[in-house]
Amino acid sequence: MANGKIGVTTENIFPVIKKFLYSDNEIFLRELVSNAVDATRKLRTLNSFGEFKGELGNLDVRVSIDKEAGTLTVSDHGIGMDADDIEKYINQIAFSGAEEFLAKYKDTANSIIGHFGLGFYSAFMVAKKVEIRSLSYKDGAQAVEWSCDGSPEYEMHPIEKAERGTDIILYIDDESKEYLEKDRIIGLLKKYCRFLPVPVICGKKEEWKDGKYVETDEDNIVNATEPLWTRKPADLTDEDYLKFYRELMPGREDPLFWIHLNVDYPFTLTGILYFPKVKSNLDLQRNRIQLYCNQVYVTDQVEGVVPEFMTIMQGVIDSPDIPLNVSRSYLQSDRQVKKISSYISKKVAEKLEKLYSSDRSEFEKKWDDIRIFIEYGMLTDEKFYESARKFYLLKDVQGKYFSLEDYKKLVESNQTDKNSTLIYLYTNDPVAQYSYIKEAEGKGYNVLLMDGELDSHFMSMLESKDQKLRFVRVDSDIPERLIVKQDNASTDLTPLQSDILQGVFSADLPEVENAHFIVSLENLNEDSAPATVIQDEFMRRMKQMAAQQPGMMGAVDLPDSYQFVVNTAHPAVRKILGEASSSLDSKVKPILDEINSLNDEIAKSRDPKANEGLSEEAKKEAEKAVADKENKVNSLRSEQSSAISGYAKDNALIRQVIDLALLQAGLLKGKSLSEFIQRSVSLL
Ligand code: ADP
Repeated sequence: MANGKIGVTTENIFPVIKKFLYSDNEIFLRELVSNAVDATRKLRTLNSFGEFKGELGNLDVRVSIDKEAGTLTVSDHGIGMDADDIEKYINQIAFSGAEEFLAKYKDTANSIIGHFGLGFYSAFMVAKKVEIRSLSYKDGAQAVEWSCDGSPEYEMHPIEKAERGTDIILYIDDESKEYLEKDRIIGLLKKYCRFLPVPVICGKKEEWKDGKYVETDEDNIVNATEPLWTRKPADLTDEDYLKFYRELMPGREDPLFWIHLNVDYPFTLTGILYFPKVKSNLDLQRNRIQLYCNQVYVTDQVEGVVPEFMTIMQGVIDSPDIPLNVSRSYLQSDRQVKKISSYISKKVAEKLEKLYSSDRSEFEKKWDDIRIFIEYGMLTDEKFYESARKFYLLKDVQGKYFSLEDYKKLVESNQTDKNSTLIYLYTNDPVAQYSYIKEAEGKGYNVLLMDGELDSHFMSMLESKDQKLRFVRVDSDIPERLIVKQDNASTDLTPLQSDILQGVFSADLPEVENAHFIVSLENLNEDSAPATVIQDEFMRRMKQMAAQQPGMMGAVDLPDSYQFVVNTAHPAVRKILGEASSSLDSKVKPILDEINSLNDEIAKSRDPKANEGLSEEAKKEAEKAVADKENKVNSLRSEQSSAISGYAKDNALIRQVIDLALLQAGLLKGKSLSEFIQRSVSLL
């Protein structure tokens, strides 16, 4: 019989352990079962080196509950411990300033436990008393029992124990009774021990009999001892990978493909990562990668260990080299972890490139599903961007796929503008923008389909990487100006004609909710549409991105600003102008002349020379005269515009030209639409 004091300097470590680690106290089971598995593995190793010559026998680890006695026992048939071992490994937990440390690092239980090898002592988080009963594998060893009630004092004495190995018996305390429930324990074993390399047994298998579950004679093994990632990729079939996926992620659609990771240098890491089918909702799918350390489950919070954009993948990573037992912020700044993260990123890029070059048509089939993932990666990870450029695919409205390089070659000759900027035309809504697409195609242009959630960001990024590339949405300009190859002929209208034409169209444009129109005149050609509504590319993209970024809400509320381009070369427009001029000229011309002469006078008196040498009083006088003239100009302008709108009001031809353009842009709705239909019918 030996009594003694556990080698900690602080008076009583256990209350401290309990207090700080309470929230995560379930991990005690992981610690104890891992110890049991380690002891078993050590015995196997000794055996394989010929240092242990006895019978290995049954090596299962068993977790049993005795509700009446209030105990939970973890038993193994591993190497066991004799009194010296217990003294060395259990009694001497040598550290100082424990309380101080705990106070400082109370963020996670893991960090403290891992840091100090407190694994075994975590039992005191849930137990009022712990016993170790152990028989070492060594020849002629004496079995011992150690017990401790949570004070720094322990008791140890020899016992009779027939079987080699260790039983750890926990007298569960009153606040932790949940750990005497079989379902709770099995749940925890499934969480932490599902892939441990030694069979872990808890109770008997149950079967459904006479309307209830009853226990059978068969042991209930909770784990798979040889999980797929520990096996050689060459020995595995696609079906194996799919089966493993279905076990890991029950109830999900099969993955698109997977990557089996396997490295030994400069760190050890194995794992399998699956590409799920994702089309949107990036966030919903996170935390699906489980991190293991020698087959012991550690966490599914893998930020830092895998690149951010890959957290939408699913699967497992197992590495003894990740400092698992430290806090997450530490994990993110650790250099080793960074290396692992960039290794995984590289591996994933390699796999994708291989798929791309070995089976292009299969790759294309999967493209729509993985595109968002790849774009996310390219947007957030520079290195990944570099490798992914090789296999990124652009898709056009015909459903054809092109690599970035091939696409450039395809459109270069016909889609370069006068400033040698390459213009990629795209649509984000092929149905709504149908007629614009057709017009662009009619000019021999190719139109890309960019309707993904990240596409506006992605296009901006490609533009920022290549100053000579611009993405332009098909409806953002009239076809002639989508790709400007030479300067357009200027309009041949007199100022009076311009004023009248601009005036009649402005007057008749209907109110469209949340939209703002500016009329402009262009001398295009006779065959182009008489009028076209276009939206500025830059403004639209700003709004689109703002809509995805919570902080930028302001921009979303801005009205959409459209240009209403009138084609002055079109016969219908010519006709409108002719008719309007003959009835408006006599009224509008005198007004315009007066405006012009007033403007001339204003310009003259604004000339600094005009006021030279004038007295202060005279200067004030002159300023007032200018202000009066400006007011006059303004009232003449409104006189002019009311004359024009008086004329334009209810002009069927103008309204028809406007409505056709709005219709093409998908902006003709409600009352305006039904009026348009009535008018069209009456014109028949
Ligand atoms: P760690 O496992 O991190 O070393 P623990 O406090 O969990 O820290 O265990 C301390 C030591 O006690 C182990 O390294 C091992 O030598 C010994 N030990 C614990 N449990 C067992 C067991 N079931 N069988 C044999 N040795 C054990």
